[in-house]
Formats: sequence, structure tokens, C-alpha cells
Amino acid sequence: MSDALPSAVLLRGTAASAGVAIGRAIVVHPVWSEDATLPPPRGDVNTETERFRSAQRVVADELEGVAARARDESPMLSSILDTHQMIVTDPVLSSDIIERIASGVSSEAAIVHEFERQRRTLLASTNSMFRDRVHDLDHMKHQLLVALTTGAVAMRRDGESIVVAETVSPHDMLADHQLGIRAYVMKFGGIDAHASIIARDFGIPAVVGVQEVMTRIHDGDLVIVDGNRGVVICHPDETTLRHYQQLLNDQDRQRSIEQSDLTGPVHTSDGHHIALEANIDVPDQVPVAFRLGANGIGLVRTEMMVASINDIPSTDDQIAWYRRICQGAGGSGVTFRVFDLGSDKVDTGTSYVEDNPALGLRGIRFLLAQTEILRDQIMALLHVAQEYNVRCMLPMISTLDELVKAREILDECRAEFTRQHGRAPNMPLGIMIETPAAALSADMLAEAVDFFSIGTNDLTQYTLAVDRTNGLVSDSTDSLHPSVLRLIAMTVTAALSAGIPVTVCGEMAGQASALDLLVGLGVTGVSVSSFQLHDVRRRIAGISQERARVLAEQALRCRTAAEVADRVRGFQSASEGASA
Ligand code: PEP
Ligand code: MG
Repeated sequence: MSDALPSAVLLRGTAASAGVAIGRAIVVHPVWSEDATLPPPRGDVNTETERFRSAQRVVADELEGVAARARDESPMLSSILDTHQMIVTDPVLSSDIIERIASGVSSEAAIVHEFERQRRTLLASTNSMFRDRVHDLDHMKHQLLVALTTGAVAMRRDGESIVVAETVSPHDMLADHQLGIRAYVMKFGGIDAHASIIARDFGIPAVVGVQEVMTRIHDGDLVIVDGNRGVVICHPDETTLRHYQQLLNDQDRQRSIEQSDLTGPVHTSDGHHIALEANIDVPDQVPVAFRLGANGIGLVRTEMMVASINDIPSTDDQIAWYRRICQGAGGSGVTFRVFDLGSDKVDTGTSYVEDNPALGLRGIRFLLAQTEILRDQIMALLHVAQEYNVRCMLPMISTLDELVKAREILDECRAEFTRQHGRAPNMPLGIMIETPAAALSADMLAEAVDFFSIGTNDLTQYTLAVDRTNGLVSDSTDSLHPSVLRLIAMTVTAALSAGIPVTVCGEMAGQASALDLLVGLGVTGVSVSSFQLHDVRRRIAGISQERARVLAEQALRCRTAAEVADRVRGFQSASEGASA
């Protein structure tokens, strides 16, 4: 056996979340496929029973360890972990599994069979709370099967780790955030995939779309993740390690510098005000956003609350959650987007079977099919709007009909609220413009709402028919495509002539290559991840809106995204030359 150090491995992917991290890898293998053939027993009934018992111990111990660490940091997360613990150690389920093993099958077969039986019972329930527990059940089944296969569990992570996985669920990312995970490397995903967005929101460096990652990196390997360049280096040599350690020190210093010029309104160099707001997923992010210079919260992805408890939260829990966000925002405006569930997002937790969920019951369509969820959420928002500056936003609107129906529900809720409390507070209603249909009828929609927010992630996906989660077809320059820009231009024109604000809250707003264009197209504000606020603020201050307008007009006549990117580069180097 050789004592030689393993040689460095360099892997390339898409830079999904900026920053540098160094740490030991934890490789989360999808060890269990739903289509896998169930193995025969490895030994006699006692051996199989002991295999099951030991997998159960591994999972339960792990859950307990994580729950203990999460208890002080996130009561929500710790309650999810408690539920998981209850499933794994459930005495009835355990004895059913052991009984099935005694009939001569393997632990794997017994687990799959008994969990499936429980699953069917839950799905048959008329109570949606029980049906929603299916996700917890599935997750725990998977963990037990993983533990049986590897002797460990998939969620074994700690603060020192770099998580290497095919993909990571929003649920796990919330947990990772609490645990202080240093970086992500994922096999799948594009720049606009939710995993990438959440990583950016939490300021966790990430490289996605790294095809070979699952075979080239192993548990415990020393790994450098360069989320600025989309590069991952495994077993770095001394010089590379020193170089990155230096970058890491600079990065930490940079992040901790108190930036006195980071707050206040933002204007272009020729004096046009651009609203600068932050996108957030959880209340903890609010103080960070304001410290880094946000003037408001332009997008709260409330579905992350559903992700964190794996359930639709009660009205009281919602009020408490929204209030925490608003308290953090002081008197500044907060735009709460009602639950955008479905598709690649947070699961709706229902039993709808959809062949093509991206074109299915997602966002407002789901809420109009389950109006009691929408009503509860609006009532919770109205409660908080009594004290704070709350705006309500509808996701995935594609037709005027949907807006009219949602508005009727809002009006009914206001009437109900007035009955209960004497009066209903002011709460502006806006919509996301993120489908081509909405952009094409923006003039009609603008008359019925108080503001627009352009979701360029989905607008790009649905315009170009590229799955935002699929690194094989999506590309970071997609949103520069003239077809997307034309739809943005139509939306902005419609908003400005109706006299309503139009911001961009998709990832495009945080891209240096796109900001000049957006300002040139006339958007009145942008909402970006907290860690992008500083760069975006500096960049806007350096843009002349008048010059940017010329750039935007040229871009709208380009034929390809690459041509647009060239024009923008030319514009940027001319601007830098002019200001040098
Ligand atoms: C978007 O689609 O651009 C957007 C901001 O919404 P999300 O990324 O949450 O779908
Ligand atoms: Mg969207």
C-alpha cells in the first residue's frame, strides 16, 4: 500500500452561491432507490431482527443528537425531529416490522412493506394533517434503509462539513443552516434551482451541476468549494490550500466589516431611486438583511414555513412567524408571498398525482383548489397588517381569472376580519409576474393590483421551456435571452402606465450582468439575497439610467442571449472606462 498523499482532484460545475469554504466532505449517497429490488435475508431471523434493531438505533441516536443541538436554535426544527424520532421508535410499527421479519423476509423488505402499509392508511385519511405526515414517514423509511445499507444515516452532518449530494431538499437545508454547514456540492441543479437560491439566501457557498461529484469525492475528504468560480478541489495541495485559506480570511474579514455606507435609499448615478429589498425564507434572516442594507423585504417565501414543519401551519403559528419577520423589519415594508407550493418547490402534501407538476397545481392554482389554506393565510396576514407594513403577493398568476378569484377571496376575508375586529387594515395586493401569459396580459393585470414583482426564475423557465432545476438545459445567461427581456419590458411598460411599482425578485436581479439591463428597462426596484445587497447597491449607484436605457433598447433587438451578454459586457467596460 502506498503512503503517497492522494492527488488533487478538480471538478467544475455551476457557481450557485458565492463564497469560499474549506472542510471535510460528508457524502450523502442516494443509497436507496424506490425501484430497487428488495434483497433476500442476509441470515436467520435473529440476524435480520438485529440488523433492523441496529439501524433503528443508528437513526434514533442521530436524530437525538441533531435535535439536542437544534433545540435552542430552532424550536420548529426540533419539533420536526421529535416527530421523526416518534416514527422511528414507534413500538407498534417496530413490532409489525419484526413480525414480518419473522415470516422470513429481509429487514429491507419488512421495512418497505410495513411503512407502505402505514402510508396507505395515512393517505386514506380524510384529515389532511394525517395525509401530510406521509412525508415524514417516507423520510424515515429512507433513513432506516440507508442505515441498513451503510450503517450510518443520510443526514449525518455537522458544522465542519461540506455536504456532497445529488441534491438537497429545502427541509434539509433549513436543518443544515441551523447546524452551520459550510458549503454544498451537488450533482444536479442549475443556478435558479431552489437549493441554489436557499444556499445564496443563507450565504452558504455552493457549486451545483458537478456531474462526477458522487464518485470522485468520498466521506472525510478535504475539500475546497469555490462558489465564486464554480470549482471544487478535493485533496488540495499545500499551495492551493494556503491560497484558499487566505481567500477565506479575506472573505471573513470582508463580511465582518461594519459598512457605514450600506444603508439608506439607493439611487442611480443620475439620481433615479431604485428600491433595494431582500428576499428571505425564515425570520432569522431579517436582521441580517437589514444589517446588510435592505430597505425592506421584497419577498418572503412563506412556503418555507411549510417546508420547515412539513405541514400547513396553523393560523396562530403563521401570525407568530409573520410578526417576527415584521418586528425584525421595524416599520419597513414586507412583501409576503402566499404559499407557492408544488412542482420543484415544497411539496403540497396532498395526494394529487401529476405527471408534469411544473405545469400543474402549483402556486395560485393549488391555493384556488384549496381555498381554506389561502383564506387562513390571508386572515393571518391581515392580523399582522394591523400593526405592520404588510403587502400580500400571489405567486404563479397566469390569467386574469385567477387574479379575480383570489381577489374575491381577499375581499371576503377583509369582510370577515371587519366583522371580527371592527375594521380591516390596509394591505396592498400584488402579483408575481413569472409566467409568459402574465407578462403578455400585464396591462390588464396591472389595473387590478397594487404592485408587480417579476419572478425571473420562473419567467425564464416557462418562456424558454428550460427546467430551472436541470443543469443540463438551464444556464446562468438564460434570463438574458431577448424573449425573456421582451416580456420584462412589456411588464414594466404596463406597470409604469398604470402607475404601480414593478420590482424584480428573481435571481436575475442579483446578477451583475443583468442589473444594468433591468435598470435600463425601467424597473423601480430589486429584491435580492441578503449577501448580494452590498454588491447590488454599489452597482446601482454606478449606473446611469439614461445610458442603461440605450443598452436595454439594443438588447431588446439582439437575437441571442450571448449577443445580449456581449452588449452588456461592452456597456460595463465602457462605464468602467468612463468612471476611471
Ligand atoms: C422567481 O420565480 O423568480 C421567484 C422569485 O420565485 P421562486 O424562485 O421562489 O419560484
Ligand atoms: Mg417563482
